[in-house]
Amino acid sequence: MVKLLEARGLSFAYPSGLRAVDGVDFEADRGELVCIAGPNGAGKSTLLKLLAGLEKPSAGTVQLEGAPLARTRAKVRARKIALLPQTLTALPDVTVKRFVAYGRYAHQGVFTRATAEDGRAVARALEQADVADLGQRLLTELSSGQRQRALVARALAQEAELLLVDEPTNALDPEHQIAVFELLARLSCEGHAAVVVTHDLNLASQFATRVGLVAEGRKVADGVPGEVLVREVLEPVYGSKLAYGEMAADGGESRSFIVPWRG
Ligand code: ADP
Ligand code: MG
Repeated sequence: MVKLLEARGLSFAYPSGLRAVDGVDFEADRGELVCIAGPNGAGKSTLLKLLAGLEKPSAGTVQLEGAPLARTRAKVRARKIALLPQTLTALPDVTVKRFVAYGRYAHQGVFTRATAEDGRAVARALEQADVADLGQRLLTELSSGQRQRALVARALAQEAELLLVDEPTNALDPEHQIAVFELLARLSCEGHAAVVVTHDLNLASQFATRVGLVAEGRKVADGVPGEVLVREVLEPVYGSKLAYGEMAADGGESRSFIVPWRG
């Protein structure tokens, strides 16, 4: 069957001439939770924008269900792809509920109002992202962690099959970090494809079905966590300030963890 997302030979340079993404192949399919890791400035956010169709690659192609993304209509694209940006440049001065309802635009006709189905999708999204009790609060008046969850809720309301998520757990407390990844894992089990940029190698180790490692615009590794999140692969990219360990989880199975370590 054709993959939900398939990119080949993607390159992108900013006007400054800086080549932020350099010949990257990347794919993601339904049922996957793919984490993209890599140092600051490696090109992760730029890659995500190329995959979302927000930037045009200077070389290479992105295919969504076998069709070139560049030729997919904006409305169709918005129904299929939800991008959660790393930062919102300008926060709209609206309530959380209104903001989450923006996620429904791609489902509505030009002249039609929100339907009961739209209302249900918004309520479900607020619930799933644990912001239902913040619905009437202004987005601008939330803590950064609460705002992050409102962003997740908006993407969920969109009901897109492909979720492209940029560092969703920054500014979240440990419990909400786990909650966001549990939610993304559940969505991928239900048939979504989730692509998640994260610096948290620990969470990637526990939740990812696959990990892509990016450095200086290139993909340097791609595989299951047990193949990629190991010292031989990570040390050339991150250096030696990481500790690797294993711990038995509640179910008895052993999981690896990786933490920043001053050495
Ligand atoms: P990451 O998300 O991995 O930290 P980015 O994709 O944001 O990396 O950035 C990759 C490179 O492109 C960096 O060197 C960054 O400085 C540069 N860059 C990012 N955005 C822009 C921009 N709008 N204009 C020029 N250069 C940019
Ligand atoms: Mg980034």
